[in-house]
Amino acid sequence: MVENSKVLLRKEKEKIVRFHITVKGIVQGVGFRPFIYNLARTHSLSGYVLNNTRGVDIEVEGKREDIELFLEDIRIKPPPLAVIEEVSREEFPPVGYRKFEIKSSRKDEDKFLPISPDISICDDCLKELFDPHDRRYLYPFINCTNCGPRFTIIKDIPYDRQRTTMSSFKMCRDCELEYHDPSNRRFHAQPNACWKCGPSVKLLDEEGKRIKADDPIQTAAEFIRDGKILAVKGIGGYHLACDATKPQVVSKLREKKNRVDKPFALMMLNMEQIKKFCEVSCEEERLLLSPRRPIVLLKRKSEDSLPREIAPGNKYLGVMLPYTPLHYLLLKKVNLPLIMTSGNISEEPIAYKDEDALCRLNKIADAFLVHNREIQIRVDDSVSRIVEGKPMLIRRSRGYAPQPVKLGFEAKKCVLAVGGHLKNTFCFLKGNHAIISHHIGDLENLDALSSLEEGIEHYRKIFYCEPQIIACDMHPNYASTSLAEEYARKNSLPLIPIQHHHAHIASLLAEKHINEKVIGVAFDGSGLGNDKRIWGGEFLVANQKEFERVAHLRYVRLPGGEAAIKEPWRMALSYLYEIYGDEYEKLAWKILFHQVKFEKMSVVQNLIKKGINSPLTSSAGRLFDAVSSILGIRGKINYEGQAAIELEMLARDKKEKFYPFEVIEKEKKFIVDTLPLVSALIEELIKGEDLQLIATRFHWTVSQIILRVCQLIRDYQGLNQVALSGGVFQNSLILKQVVYLLTSSGFKVFLHSILPPNDGGICLGQAVVAYNKMVNSS
Ligand SMILES: [Zn+2]
Ligand SMILES: [Zn+2]
Repeated sequence: MVENSKVLLRKEKEKIVRFHITVKGIVQGVGFRPFIYNLARTHSLSGYVLNNTRGVDIEVEGKREDIELFLEDIRIKPPPLAVIEEVSREEFPPVGYRKFEIKSSRKDEDKFLPISPDISICDDCLKELFDPHDRRYLYPFINCTNCGPRFTIIKDIPYDRQRTTMSSFKMCRDCELEYHDPSNRRFHAQPNACWKCGPSVKLLDEEGKRIKADDPIQTAAEFIRDGKILAVKGIGGYHLACDATKPQVVSKLREKKNRVDKPFALMMLNMEQIKKFCEVSCEEERLLLSPRRPIVLLKRKSEDSLPREIAPGNKYLGVMLPYTPLHYLLLKKVNLPLIMTSGNISEEPIAYKDEDALCRLNKIADAFLVHNREIQIRVDDSVSRIVEGKPMLIRRSRGYAPQPVKLGFEAKKCVLAVGGHLKNTFCFLKGNHAIISHHIGDLENLDALSSLEEGIEHYRKIFYCEPQIIACDMHPNYASTSLAEEYARKNSLPLIPIQHHHAHIASLLAEKHINEKVIGVAFDGSGLGNDKRIWGGEFLVANQKEFERVAHLRYVRLPGGEAAIKEPWRMALSYLYEIYGDEYEKLAWKILFHQVKFEKMSVVQNLIKKGINSPLTSSAGRLFDAVSSILGIRGKINYEGQAAIELEMLARDKKEKFYPFEVIEKEKKFIVDTLPLVSALIEELIKGEDLQLIATRFHWTVSQIILRVCQLIRDYQGLNQVALSGGVFQNSLILKQVVYLLTSSGFKVFLHSILPPNDGGICLGQAVVAYNKMVNSS
């Protein structure tokens, strides 16, 4: 009997069957078909593979056991850029395929197909780049199906060469052979190119005239070594590059770029160089080396190893490794760490079109290292850091966008959410995916606003998205809101305004597929609240559809509105007035005299006293600003969040005595009175207590406030899950402390891992809330 069943099993395994397999995810333009082709041949299977607009269709025929192994291999060793979301299979009787082949694509309208982000040069290409015997030796545009530009060169879909910015380059014979050979690493690699047929580099002077050079990259490297500033055309736009080791060069760049002290990003050749200047953990090393190649915030080793002008007042440096072959060639030749900052003046969007770059950057750059492969869409570098052992994005752009984010539900209607006002990104919901855009920027800027419009149009086209619902922020004065209003009106679509902090929390819940209600802690700069006041220190009980505001920081005046964001001393004044009433003037002057002129202070005092142009705010970000100013750290800022960042840099990671605060209960809701905190802190300041200690205590107190309020909410509502979102959670000290305190108190804590906690992440929250309000109205 036993023998018999063994024979049966054997027979079953050897039986010839046919399977139809569908693979979904990022499986096009990433070398998936040649991978399947080679795999099928390895396992002696016949059939075919083809792309359709949903993914990849495979038919295989052969022994059942071989097909099982084939499926196993798809799962365990897919090509590096592929992201497999789903593999489904169905069995059929064999039809007698003779061989295995790659069939041409089937076009299926109205189906969504993910597009790969731009990916750093792979190890195989890097080896060839520096191999004197390779025909692409030192070729600055070497790439293959596993690496290189994708999203930034695509004009339209389906993704093939004639619909990319590579269409003007005709492949030479050798490239063509590789392109058509399924066993080759460059089979159907759309940007495939070589010295003979592909794009080339040239060097221009500041007027755009060609500088004669046998090797433009060599000459560019010499310029940089001589202290010149170079504009370098990259994958998603232009960088400004210069020698990061010379303080006077870095200062010159600051002056010309009109960037006072916002940190510059660095590019270094390899890990060895990075470790010379920065502390690098294993997780940070992995993130730096990942094919997405974000800028990673790393603790600098000592204050003086690199000029402080790179990131004044900051313990961290933003560092990335080279990600294009051109970067590698340049960095190798310069052999110095480089500043690699976005090619723009001040806060404008980064230049990505050649003519625009020449005209906008010619006052800054001494020369231009350019090439003739067009950039279709502007994409900035991404910024990330490791928090609690895991990556947390500060800016999600190159290398990440437009990779779709999987939703926990199937959206039956397509939603477009236009995002916020600062750090804008937008988002489409389609099926069970959210497609979140690259970083658009601050919409105060007209260029950024038109980028938003163009971006929406581009995504609509390449991802087949026809929005049926539009979502925006509740704030009527956001440029994104106006754009959404117009879009909705023109297309007769419903427009759903979403509260800013609910969007923050919902975005995190959508990312984590959490459907139930949680405690949402949204500590942020500012966002319009339901009561028309400016919120920002909020405790919500929320899900992906609704929220209730159960606690918040006490309201104080925001003297001068927007102006108070740029001038933290105004917030200091506001807190002082709240604490000391009419007696505060002398003290205020004593504390703030070096930050503001007396006359100006009097004007603002008047605003506060009379409540003119001084809306009420519960913003946590503004509390940090006030404290930063009171401690004399920063009274005016040059970039968003500067006062809080410099306050954080002063604080130490230490459990400390914390300042008093009061939680006032009113009908099962809570208001956190922060005045005792600020007044205790001022007392210590006057006593001459060490600033570092005060800053440390302040951070620890804010973390204690979050713990206390979450505990109170748990007592009333029985909720034990906490979602942390909002710009304040970019503060790694607060984040670490809050996670520690909450988990020690038995809470389950959720942090962002896909989207940034700042306003760059709210579009997803807007989209899911609008969807749930419209579609799940029961
Ligand atoms: Zn490659
Ligand atoms: Zn070629």
